[in-house]
Amino acid sequence: MKKILILSVFLFLGLTFKAFSQTVYTSPKGEKYHTADCRLSGEASPVKLADAKKAGKGACDICKPNELGKAKLNQCSSKTADGTRCKRMTANKNKKCFQHQPK
Ligand SMILES: [Zn+2]
Ligand SMILES: [Zn+2]
Repeated sequence: MKKILILSVFLFLGLTFKAFSQTVYTSPKGEKYHTADCRLSGEASPVKLADAKKAGKGACDICKPNELGKAKLNQCSSKTADGTRCKRMTANKNKKCFQHQPK
């Protein structure tokens, strides 16, 4: 339990730093920019968000790097109707995607 707490403090600090000058990842061939942990970032190299935009790149639909750099995406913690875990990513605090928000 303690470990999780420490981890989240580091995570918070990391995100705070990120917010000052967000780095995104993009490859010369790609039309999108990604966060570091996006599975599509592949051979992408780090660039400043502003530079990626200048180059005409758009935000990835999967990792959704946003300009504030503070939204940490989590996999939705809900289960779908067939009993498997929902695969949607969400930045919501309760870790539930828009479809699984409590009514
Ligand atoms: Zn991506
Ligand atoms: Zn969901």
